[in-house]
Amino acid sequence: GQALHIEDITVSYGANPALWDIDLDIPPGVMCAIVGPNGAGKSTLIKTALGLVRPVAGHVRFLGRPVAQMRGKIGYVPQRHSVDWDFPTTVRDVVEMGLYQQLGWFRRPGAQAHARALGALAEVGMQDYAGRQISQLSGGQQQRVFIARALMQDAPILILDEPLAGVDAATEAVIIALLQRLRDAGRTIIVVHHDLTTVQSYFDWLVMLNVRIIAQGPMAEVYTPEN
Ligand code: ADP
Ligand code: ADP
Repeated sequence: GQALHIEDITVSYGANPALWDIDLDIPPGVMCAIVGPNGAGKSTLIKTALGLVRPVAGHVRFLGRPVAQMRGKIGYVPQRHSVDWDFPTTVRDVVEMGLYQQLGWFRRPGAQAHARALGALAEVGMQDYAGRQISQLSGGQQQRVFIARALMQDAPILILDEPLAGVDAATEAVIIALLQRLRDAGRTIIVVHHDLTTVQSYFDWLVMLNVRIIAQGPMAEVYTPEN
């Protein structure tokens, strides 16, 4: 089945719909960009798919199954608003938090979790930072750490909300290359972004959203420069 299948989803926070009658299919193994202007409903679409926002109508399937049956199989990197780390937190601590969802909050991370965290950090090229304070890293480095956290469950689907926001061009290239590697390893990568020109050369699937679906499909078919 489709990595993500959305049918007839409408979401309303008040009088005005944030999403209107969304039908969407994202096949497995693609690197998909969901693009639209501010307020287009991109975050709402992701949160609805993950069951964090309740739609007025419609339903969602990941790999043919409802999200409730997908625990630990979807990695999610929420949009990063500036986080205050008000107690000392190492990079390794942050990454190990990615296991709590699976283990429950009662289980302390053991040697296995430590080893996995280092493996996930190595996947994003941040293994040398494991012992550093998260608050001391740049925004782009923190973003890579949050991606490592999402990798802890070895989920086949990875959803990232604006991972390229507020990073410089060099970091953007590093993150895109990382996402391409994760796709080439067989994962489905779904990325929310506000700018079509950034994603058109690197992503292979495109969803254009503005409350409604404007277009969706393979990048080469959907994207034309006059969009
Ligand atoms: P995007 O991610 O594309 O910027 P959002 O999904 O964040 O769009 O928001 C879509 C619309 O829904 C916006 O008009 C926003 O103000 C509104 N919205 C988002 N979250 C809420 C909420 N919790 N309560 C009320 N309105 C919201
Ligand atoms: P995002 O960019 O992730 O959509 P925002 O920065 O727009 O988030 O908003 C931060 C939080 O406030 C989110 O949880 C969002 O759902 C909520 N929110 C956004 N717009 C509104 C709104 N108009 N009224 C109430 N809550 C909102």
